Amino acid sequence: MKRVSILGATGSVGRSTADVILAQPEAYDVQAVTANGSAQELAEMAVRLKAKHAVVADESAYETLRECLSGTDITCAGGPAALAEAAARPADWIMAAIVGMAGLDPLMAAIAQGTCVAIANKEPLVAAGSIVMEAARKSGAQLLPVDSEHNAIFQVLETRNKGAIEKIILTASGGPFRTMPLADMAQVTPAQALAHPNWSMGPKISVDSATMMNKALEIIEASVFFGLPPEKIEVLVHPQSVVHSMVEYSDGSVLAQMGASDMRTPVAHTLGWPDRIRTPGQRLDLENMASLSFEAVDEARFPSIPLAYDCLKAGGEACVILNAANEVAVEAFLAGRIPFTDILKYASCAVQNYSAPASLETVEDIRLLDINVREKIKSCMLGACDSVYSKRRNVS
Ligand code: NAD
Ligand code: MG
Repeated sequence: MKRVSILGATGSVGRSTADVILAQPEAYDVQAVTANGSAQELAEMAVRLKAKHAVVADESAYETLRECLSGTDITCAGGPAALAEAAARPADWIMAAIVGMAGLDPLMAAIAQGTCVAIANKEPLVAAGSIVMEAARKSGAQLLPVDSEHNAIFQVLETRNKGAIEKIILTASGGPFRTMPLADMAQVTPAQALAHPNWSMGPKISVDSATMMNKALEIIEASVFFGLPPEKIEVLVHPQSVVHSMVEYSDGSVLAQMGASDMRTPVAHTLGWPDRIRTPGQRLDLENMASLSFEAVDEARFPSIPLAYDCLKAGGEACVILNAANEVAVEAFLAGRIPFTDILKYASCAVQNYSAPASLETVEDIRLLDINVREKIKSCMLGACDSVYSKRRNVS
């Protein structure tokens, strides 16, 4: 039996992971499941998965979790320390599927075990990429990418021919506003931004897909994960989301991985790796597919893409700033406090204007910068700056 844990079990990727595990429950021994605050949902999932331990990061949800699990032999706990402790519980495979930088500490705790860690939680890779990769090298942890594009590349990247890689091509669906004129984007509502044409995902990544910041973060994630410079990473819009990404080699061969738009496939790939397992996921129906198309990104309408390349070239600090500013701006947009198009204004403004301390060597250095950027952006949103643009003069 494989011992497994799911961090962020109640989310979209977490639920896909539970589905894959429940398709063959006798093969897995679930050690821990975690969530932020949805205690009842987490308790139900813990029972279904026959998990040993359940944790809510939000301490105020602990009482409900305890009540929901009373009469079972599942232990439970609450708070950030309990979350990191759950990630440190010995397991053969751990799914990191928390959203945002909140996942950094548990991810580091999972990696410190030196086990297989499947990473969906891209934000810590974007903001703390070199620290995360170095921690894995030290502990011997095997990192497996769950993000569908990176999982695709992982599947078709020939490690022994790494020197022959000309480029990797990340595909992007283009999100719900792929064809929307720039002038209309300011009026976009959260409900419109959350309605992704191909994928059903959590709210943050859905908004990121609508601004194409998701692809921007994935450019940085790919650079970190595969150790490739920005000039070897290309993005192509592929509205059907069938080809999940590609690698082009020096002999002209282009290897692609295809599949349905169903996260259970990349999850199962990492859970079975290096073997293949059966999944309850959807299958591709190529015969009934009208066409597969590819087009260049319109960078004027989606400035997140050039911004990601700028950040990669500028270095680690810029990536921390980009990620933090985006997380705060997405939250504000979803709460109805800023228009859709301001997400990118805040993100690019922060990258251009905020400076970072001399070096970012530890998780603590990253955390401090992350908190600092969030506070600055929040005070700008409260009117400490006259407009998004005036911040360029006021904040350094
Ligand atoms: P989601 O919002 O559906 O779920 C997030 C999970 O994290 C939930 O279990 C939630 O309780 C937990 N969580 C949230 N805040 C937390 C906190 N402060 N502390 C501890 N736990 C917290 O998100 P999702 O769509 O499943 O995405 C998860 C991650 O995977 C993101 O980084 C996303 O970019 C990445 N990802 C998602 C998909 C997808 O299809 N949903 C695809 C590729 C990558
Ligand atoms: Mg992706």
